Amino acid sequence: MASAAEGSGRLRRAVGTGTWVIDLDGVIWLAGEPIDGVGAAVERLRERGVRVLFVTNNAEPTVAQLVQRLARAGIEAGAEDLVTSAHAAASLVDAAQTVLAVGGPGVDEALQARGTSVVHAGAAGAADADAVVVGLTHDFDYEVLAAAATAVRRGARLIGTNEDPTHPTPAGLLPGSGALVAAVATAAETEPELAGKPHRPMVDLVRSRAQDVTVVVGDRPATDGRLARALGVPYALVRSGVVAPGAAVPGEVDLDQPDLGALVSAVLCG
Ligand SMILES: [Mg+2]
Repeated sequence: MASAAEGSGRLRRAVGTGTWVIDLDGVIWLAGEPIDGVGAAVERLRERGVRVLFVTNNAEPTVAQLVQRLARAGIEAGAEDLVTSAHAAASLVDAAQTVLAVGGPGVDEALQARGTSVVHAGAAGAADADAVVVGLTHDFDYEVLAAAATAVRRGARLIGTNEDPTHPTPAGLLPGSGALVAAVATAAETEPELAGKPHRPMVDLVRSRAQDVTVVVGDRPATDGRLARALGVPYALVRSGVVAPGAAVPGEVDLDQPDLGALVSAVLCG
């Protein structure tokens, strides 16, 4: 692990030309509630000429919903500034295919944008889908699980938007889409393909959207840290999400700060 001073020096040298890949949940907000100082932090980066690309494993919201949430956090952004694990999952299927979507509106939107025929559990054709895409949804019960597992048993690919077991909220950790993907995989007795951070489909998608990434900022070493490694750039951990201040961290961390505001201060002024 690099010392904070070495890591900070390396990052400072890279700042001003590149793109920062920044996670959303646990970095910009907790369950949609903005974390203090994030609007000013992003503004400071942009003033320095740094481009910000928000990359989230949360496949549930639509792009418009994410843009709205960013605005509430004091951050102006457009569709070109966002990549979700729903987009990464959609990159794995072809336009001519029928996909059984088990997820929120973000999964439907990404699959429709890809041009696929989207069906839901209980609809005609669900059992004969070419692929089943599973993402975080609050609308998940035994019938949905059975429909997804049946389609997979009949030959559909099983694609999980991501494997995050939990997501952070002010009330603590709640089940993430990884828990739902695991349920379908268990019921279908198979292994899922995974699309989001830190897996190849997301790495390729981020590379296609930004060729000059200089750092990945995120609260989860298992996804954000591994995405940084896959992209060959430093990883900046912020302890505003799943890793509490003072807790031991699995894996390599190049920068370790309480939150995004502190990270930007450390990099720009440290
Ligand atoms: Mg996160």
